[in-house]
Amino acid sequence: MVDKNVLPGDFLSTEEEFEPGSNTFAENGSIFSNSVGKAVKDSKQKTILVKKPKDISVADVGDIVYGEVMLVKDNSVQLSIFTEPSEGNRKVLSRTIASLPIRLVSKDYVKNMRDMFKIGDLVKAKIVSVKPYGIDVRTNEMELGVIRAFCSCCRQPLHLFGRQLKCLRCGKGEQRKVSQDYALK
Ligand SMILES: [Zn+2]
Repeated sequence: MVDKNVLPGDFLSTEEEFEPGSNTFAENGSIFSNSVGKAVKDSKQKTILVKKPKDISVADVGDIVYGEVMLVKDNSVQLSIFTEPSEGNRKVLSRTIASLPIRLVSKDYVKNMRDMFKIGDLVKAKIVSVKPYGIDVRTNEMELGVIRAFCSCCRQPLHLFGRQLKCLRCGKGEQRKVSQDYALK
């Protein structure tokens, strides 16, 4: 936990162990980070706090992130996201959960989220906001969206033919909000 990079909403400790210090908040007996930064334990004061050092890179609005679809709901998708090194400035962040609201999926009208994403898909997204309770992302650009998807029948990676995804093993055709960077063509 010491020197661990954290994002808003990351679990830090229980209130039994520590008092919530600066840049943290407590809820239902647990202490969470309220900020991007490094989690630091002060054993003397029995507090845990988050430092915002200037020398670490943080996830920011406009950053590209990659995420795995954990949950598909009617109005949003939950992604487990991680950043990639960018411009020689390695972004080391723990995995965190981001939310993709249906209105930010595509420039086109999206009728059903379940036609756009499925659990296990890898998604390229852009951060639109970083808030205490989590990160919101969007995929409403050509380069954003699913970059790797798996067959819902046999779990094989799907290949992209034009705008249609197809399973080479069982022949099933599938649909997604596909990124122009889709991996398998
Ligand atoms: Zn298949």
